[in-house]
Order: sequence, then C-alpha cells, then structure tokens
Amino acid sequence: MRSLFRFRTTARPAPVDLRTRIFAAGDVASRFKFTHMSDATARIVIRNALFFGRDRMSALTVPWCTYTDPEVGHVGLNECEARERGIAVTTFVQELRDVDRAVLDSEVSGFVKVHVRQGGDQIVGATIVARHAGEMLSELTLAIARGVGLGALATVIHPYPTQAEAICDCARSRSGRDRHRNSSISDPSRGDQKSRRRVQSHPADATSKAIV
Ligand SMILES: Cc1cc2nc3c(=O)[nH]c(=O)nc-3n(C[C@H](O)[C@H](O)[C@H](O)COP(=O)(O)OP(=O)(O)OC[C@H]3O[C@@H](n4cnc5c(N)ncnc54)[C@H](O)[C@@H]3O)c2cc1C
Repeated sequence: MRSLFRFRTTARPAPVDLRTRIFAAGDVASRFKFTHMSDATARIVIRNALFFGRDRMSALTVPWCTYTDPEVGHVGLNECEARERGIAVTTFVQELRDVDRAVLDSEVSGFVKVHVRQGGDQIVGATIVARHAGEMLSELTLAIARGVGLGALATVIHPYPTQAEAICDCARSRSGRDRHRNSSISDPSRGDQKSRRRVQSHPADATSKAIV
C-alpha cells in the first residue's frame, strides 16, 4: 500500500461511470419463484432496459397457488404479515359448505378469507382454499392490484351457481347484505355460534389473535 502513495500524478482520472446496468428476471431475481413471476419480471426488464421504464417489482401484486386438493391460493398479506407492518385488519370468511355450487359438486372443503384494512374497504390480502382456488383468486388479485374495495365486489353480479360466489358472500357480509338463500346464516359477532360466515378483527398490535 505504501508504494501506491509514493506514486503521484497530476493527471485527472477519466470520468468513468461505474454504475452497472445489469437486469435480471425470473427465479434469480425474485423471492416468488413462479412461472407467472418470471413472465412479470421479464416484462419489467424489457420496459426498463429498452424503453426507459421505471417499473418496480415491489409494486407487483403477486398471487400464488399450491395445487393440492383442495388448492390453496393466496394474494397480498396474511394476518401475520399485516400485523408485522402495523396494519390492523378485519377478516371476512365464507365457508364453502354454505356455497350452493360447492355443495352441488361435493367440493365443500375450504373457504374464502378476505382481509380488509380495519375501518375501511381496502382489501390487503386474501386466501382461498377450494378445489379451484387458483381460478377464483384472480378476482381478488384484480381488486387488490387496481384498488377495488370489498364493498364494490358486493355489487358485482356473480353467475349462479358458482364457487366464486363465496367471494361475493364475503363482500356482502361486510356491507351487511345477506342473500336471500343464505339468509339463515348470521354473523357470529352477533352471537350465533352455528354460523359459518365469520367476521373477525385483528388489531395491529402483537396481542391480536389470528384465525386459522
Ligand atoms: C417441479 C417444479 C414444479 C413447478 N411448478 C410450478 C407451478 O405449478 N407454477 C408456477 O408458477 N411455478 C412452478 N414452478 C416454478 C417455475 O418452474 C419457475 O419459477 C420458473 O420456471 C422460473 O423461470 P426462470 O426463467 O427464472 O428459470 P427456468 O425456467 O429454470 O429457466 C432457466 C433456463 O436457463 C437455462 N440455463 C441454465 N444455466 C444456463 C447456462 N449456463 N447457459 C445457458 N442456459 C442456461 C436452463 O436450461 C433453463 O432453460 C415449478 C418448479 C419446479 C421445479
């Protein structure tokens, strides 16, 4: 090192931009190692590398599905992640055994669970356990990605009978509007222990109780 300091020059260093321009997409660039994420990140790379885009991966709403039977689909935050970020949520749950299409198809194992920012309408996350959870998840993914509130989903007409009606049921339990054919199902927060539609609040503090 000492010999370096003995070497002196009056020449100014050439202005070299040492910032690298390396782009990466797919599994190597994401904690979400899914085919659809490879596609999404590749599109970001193309926009940012070739068209001066400033898109960020962190801005993506990422759904995923595990193809068990029933499938497990998820998008956004779960209760624990919401708590870690200090976001208090209210959770709406609709069991599939109270959804006519699931009963007709003998696919009653599962539920739709939607987390909404407490005191508001913004959907922050959702989990679906159902035979076709992956197919059902896109409606909630679109709602989160485009800022459509749960209340708005309650006003969307869903074809009958479909298992996706469970999403609508969650939305309607938030707005207090029960459908006529499910009118016997009441909100457990009003004291009916037999109810399969559940509403629970999760404060942002660490003492809040998560539901399974
Ligand atoms: C068994 C299995 C099941 C999966 N199921 C699902 C699923 O149901 N849904 C889902 O979303 N995701 C699934 N995944 C994950 C999904 O396959 C990956 O997330 C996705 O393929 C990652 O894409 P990628 O382009 O980053 O990498 P890859 O698809 O792995 O592509 C990398 C490519 O680079 C090539 N390569 C490697 N080294 C070199 C080299 N030195 N020179 C030149 N080429 C090289 C490889 O041959 C390969 O073609 C599954 C993965 C596995 C292993």
